[in-house]
Amino acid sequence: MPKHVQACKKLMNSKKSPSLVYWLGNSLYLNITNRCSNKCYFCIRRFKDGIGSFKLKLDREPSSNEVISELQNVINMKNWSEIVFCGFGEPMERLDCILEICRWIRRYYGKVTSVRIDTNGHGFLLNRGREVVKELEEAGVDKISVSLNAHDEETYRQVCRPAFDDAFESILEFIEKAKEVLTVEITAVTIPEVDMEKVMEIARKMGVKFRARRYISCFW
Ligand code: SF4
Repeated sequence: MPKHVQACKKLMNSKKSPSLVYWLGNSLYLNITNRCSNKCYFCIRRFKDGIGSFKLKLDREPSSNEVISELQNVINMKNWSEIVFCGFGEPMERLDCILEICRWIRRYYGKVTSVRIDTNGHGFLLNRGREVVKELEEAGVDKISVSLNAHDEETYRQVCRPAFDDAFESILEFIEKAKEVLTVEITAVTIPEVDMEKVMEIARKMGVKFRARRYISCFW
């Protein structure tokens, strides 16, 4: 049995060990942190330990090298259409880790078509004084999916319960800046508090795509 298939089976069977890398369909996901600057009432982390056979609750935060090492075991398993920073936490809590891993992917696996970050959009608030968008672009990130999950600041506070007072405004600034050099989409979960038409209007005015995500206690 090829080495990478063995490694894959081992990872799938190790249900009890937290996964730093997991997959759904043709997408490979990286679970680099469990920290998050929001406390969304609908967050999957409140209800589950993981997704499918993958446990995503981490015992501790992994180093970039540990993530890269797990990534190396599965990256040749198939022709992944994208690699996505999206786990049980907010990836932008660890900007340097994203940059290191992304540089490694671009250096050794240039054939990977897309590297995306699924984020709550707090990139500026979590990394004050950094040129966040420029650094992401230079490292090889090409797409950003921002979970806006509200049509205004009050609703955002109510459903996402952010650690920052000016979170909603900062997310919009982040999107404005990111869309200059990256492909950006806004997403929102279909919960009663959110006026989807208004979120779509925000996306339309900003000139970025919009995607509604069904509210299920499963995965966004
Ligand atoms: S932003 Fe995402 S990870 Fe953070 S609490 Fe909300 S749903 Fe959970």
